[in-house]
Amino acid sequence: MSNIILSGKNPKKVKVGNLVFGGEKPIIISGPCSVESREQIIELAIKLKAIGVDVLRGGAFKPRTSPYSFQGLGEEGLKYLKEASEITGIPVISELMDASNIDLICKYADIIQIGSRNMHNYSLLKAVGELNKPVLLKRGMSATIKEWILAAEYIAHHGNDNIILCERGIRTFDNYTRNTLDLAAVPIMKKETGLPVIVDPSHGTGIRELIIPMSLAALAAGADGIMVEVHEDPDNALSDGEQSLDIEQYENLMKLIKK
Ligand code: PEP
Ligand code: MN
Repeated sequence: MSNIILSGKNPKKVKVGNLVFGGEKPIIISGPCSVESREQIIELAIKLKAIGVDVLRGGAFKPRTSPYSFQGLGEEGLKYLKEASEITGIPVISELMDASNIDLICKYADIIQIGSRNMHNYSLLKAVGELNKPVLLKRGMSATIKEWILAAEYIAHHGNDNIILCERGIRTFDNYTRNTLDLAAVPIMKKETGLPVIVDPSHGTGIRELIIPMSLAALAAGADGIMVEVHEDPDNALSDGEQSLDIEQYENLMKLIKK
């Protein structure tokens, strides 16, 4: 069976405060892969605000491939993220990995992120479908277009159509890049679902030097926004430093986008 609620014939705008995903202006989400400390996220948020940012990102519950890697600060991280949001007036997004943390995420975040590894977690999709908070649904790293559409359909079917899709690269035979960024998915998903679609070139490539060109390519392909990892000291980041821009590179990206 195919999608029955979502359709390109009914373009959907998703509002987050004064921001509109799927509106005239592309939405820029940036911030560290993980919230590492109170100082880190607050200082970075202030700098990003001065350069230009619409939504601040920061993982508190981290889906790490190795159990020995930094797992995130949990609720403590969410509190720091919220504090950074209150200081700067910028809404925040953070990942939900487990339905038992729904109340916690809802308390601190303006957008709930469902990560690539959980795109097929149907009980989690049903659970966020019961909410009316905006949900950012990342594409599963091995998910077909059809599976991704139906994952979004799960959320909509349970009552929540405040869904933003995020292409973040898929696994292919090539491993030069961390993933293969599928930009054709942008116009396809807009046509098939009518939902706003953004692109994450950080996870999509895994390589810092590729983030700027692929961000620009994503916007040229019609993306409604981008999500980029930024860190003040990427080489010493607790996660995903190799795919994070530093402040200067981020400033450069924002200049190019404005042009
Ligand atoms: C992230 O955004 O930090 C993340 C873990 O992304 P993905 O789920 O796409 O791997
Ligand atoms: Mn990351």
